[in-house]
Amino acid sequence: MQDILFVDAPALSTRPDRDATPRSRRYYVWTVGCQMNVSDSERLEAALQAVGYSPARRPEEASFIVLNSCSVRESAEERILGKLGELVRVKREWPDTRVVLWGCMVGPDNRSIFEQRLPMVDHFVSPSAVDAVVALAPNPIYTLDEPALPVASWAHPPVSVHVPIQYGCNMTCAYCVIPLRRGRERSRPLDEIVEECARIVARGAREITLLGQIVDSWGHDLPGRPQLADLLEAVHAIPGLQRLRFLTSHPAWMTDRLIATVARLPRCMPDINLPVQAGSDRVLKLMRRGYTVARYRALIDKIRAAMPHVSLTTDIIVGHPGETRADFEATLALCDEIRFDKVHIAAFSARPGTLAAEQEQDPALAVPEEEKEARRRELERLQERIATERNARFLGQTVEVLVEGESKGKWRGRSPNNKLVFFSHPEDLTGRLVPVRVTRSSPWALQGEAAGLP
Ligand code: SF4
Repeated sequence: MQDILFVDAPALSTRPDRDATPRSRRYYVWTVGCQMNVSDSERLEAALQAVGYSPARRPEEASFIVLNSCSVRESAEERILGKLGELVRVKREWPDTRVVLWGCMVGPDNRSIFEQRLPMVDHFVSPSAVDAVVALAPNPIYTLDEPALPVASWAHPPVSVHVPIQYGCNMTCAYCVIPLRRGRERSRPLDEIVEECARIVARGAREITLLGQIVDSWGHDLPGRPQLADLLEAVHAIPGLQRLRFLTSHPAWMTDRLIATVARLPRCMPDINLPVQAGSDRVLKLMRRGYTVARYRALIDKIRAAMPHVSLTTDIIVGHPGETRADFEATLALCDEIRFDKVHIAAFSARPGTLAAEQEQDPALAVPEEEKEARRRELERLQERIATERNARFLGQTVEVLVEGESKGKWRGRSPNNKLVFFSHPEDLTGRLVPVRVTRSSPWALQGEAAGLP
């Protein structure tokens, strides 16, 4: 799961609208959470635009408000509850406003509690059910005649698009609430995904990232049991596609065939996110992750043997119930040994209904809040030093940058290794692949100059 990556933004609603659409056909979508939520919101916005709605910049300008929620951490839920508090005033002033709470906060286990406690919400909808949300929009003027594609109605399609390939998760990691909210794993059929990717590329996208909670397990529930490697091959063959990535892998599911396929396909980028979560077998067992540190290390060795220039990123939770100082030091040592390009670090946050929330009730297992924070900062300091050194390897090299847009007067894009790169150029290079010579590096990004256009 992408349990650490948080994006907090309206997916498309920031685009100022100058059309004369009345308030009765304006929507406002607000998103907190991982790339899966961002992708769901993109689809929702495309579908709402397809049925005749326009985006609003502020909730008070919309008659249909959707909050796409995340419950991976308590802090994410608090943000959503704060936003819902703001909507009380909007509902008071415009009682016909329809408010939908969507996403991972809504599950069969808590729906009735929310229905009592959140009177400003008109409807509660489970994660990823885009059609169910669209059906609640009160004033559509068209009906959807094709599945909603995130790029379907954009005047300028984004360069990089995330495409969900599976929903839900069959694992039972002790700390994770996602299986309770997103349900059992469901893979989308290969043909459906390939057709969607082809249409997205035909409309101008250059890069596709295939998304799943355990993307490597895609296909095991489909007839013939296709594997992610088969899907990568099929999507890779789409004419016009320049880059292909996938998120998020799981150490228990990654196969040698997948590694070999990524290494062989030239447009499959050398960039793998493989969450380890902890560097101690004892904690991995408490977390019910289903692998050992030795298995993880062996996978990293195979990946690096197949792709010596690969970027490796990981997710780590510190302060999980039962994590001792010695366990945490094992995590530090593993990071120092593997030298990840990036580590998404989170201090453990107990989620109601999970095993780890029960474990935290045991004083012998609970890690004090200040200790969790201290461990988080210590790991961050170590990773900042490692990332500084890792990124410095690109100094003086020319990397191919897929330009995504402009940022503070510079062009912003990503290298094959998924490094953020900034450079100056007089022309609009959005959507182009540009060779950039790296002149400066930091733990977070690279700076450079265009080294001639292709
Ligand atoms: S249960 Fe485990 S594998 Fe599944 S989404 Fe949660 S952390 Fe990821």
